[in-house]
Amino acid sequence: MSVIMFLGPPGAGKGEQCARLEASGWQILSTGQLLRQAAALQDARGLQIRDYLNRGALVPDEWVVDLVRDRVSASPGVRWILDGFPRTEAQASLLGALHLLPQHVFVLVAPDDLIVARLGGRMIDLESGRVYHDLYHPPKHAGVDDESGRPLVRRDDDRPEVIRARLALYHAHTAPMLDFFERVQGAYPLGLTYLDATDRIEHVYACVSAVLAS
Ligand code: ADP
Ligand code: AMP
Repeated sequence: MSVIMFLGPPGAGKGEQCARLEASGWQILSTGQLLRQAAALQDARGLQIRDYLNRGALVPDEWVVDLVRDRVSASPGVRWILDGFPRTEAQASLLGALHLLPQHVFVLVAPDDLIVARLGGRMIDLESGRVYHDLYHPPKHAGVDDESGRPLVRRDDDRPEVIRARLALYHAHTAPMLDFFERVQGAYPLGLTYLDATDRIEHVYACVSAVLAS
C-alpha cells in the first residue's frame, strides 16, 4: 500500500496512530500540522489561517489543497498516511488528481463526550506535531517532548467552546466522507476498517498493524 488514511473526529487518536506508523516507514500528511506551521510564519496568509484555526473553522479548500500539493510534490515516492485530509467532499474529489487515493481507510469511532474530555489533556510539540496526554500518554519528562526536549504546549483550539465547533463541523462535513469512500469502494480496491477509538492507544495500534500486515 502507498496511501492510507485515518478518518475520525478531533481527538479520536489519529495523530497517536500516525506517530506509531511513522516508525515503520510511513510519512504523515497532517493538514492540521501543515496549517499550524503556515500560521506560525505570521505572514498575511498565516495570520488568516491562524484566525480559522482559533475559531475551529475549516480553512478554505484551495489553501489546504495548495499546501497538500506542495508537500506531496516535495517528497515523491513516499508512503503517505492522510491525517485530517480530506475533510470536505471538494477536497475528496481531488484525491485522484493529487495521486492520494487511499488503499485503506481506518475509521476511528468515538463519542463526542469522550472527545471533549480527551482534548482537555492533550499536549503537543508544535514543531514535530508529536502528541501526548496528561493521563494516557505522559511524556517521559513532565512538560517536554521525548525526542527534542522542547516544551510541550496546549493547542489554542483545544478549548471546550472551540472543540464543540470542531465537532459540529466534523459531523456536518467530514463524517459524510465515509459515504464518499463507500461509494468509490466499488470503483477501485479500497479497504475500510472501523476501530473503537475508546480502546487503549496500543490496542488500537495492534488492530491497525494487524490489518496492514494482512
Ligand atoms: P486526533 O489526531 O484524532 O485529533 P490525537 O491523536 O491528537 O487525536 O489524540 C487526542 C488526545 O487523546 C491526545 O492527547 C492523545 O494522547 C490522546 N489519545 C489518543 N488516542 C487515545 C486512546 N486510544 N486512549 C486515550 N487517549 C488517547
Ligand atoms: P487537526 O490538527 O486535524 O485537528 O486540525 C486542526 C484545524 O486545522 C482544524 O480544526 C481546521 O481548522 C484546520 N484543518 C485541518 N485540516 C483541514 C482540512 N483538510 N480542511 C480544512 N481545514 C482543516
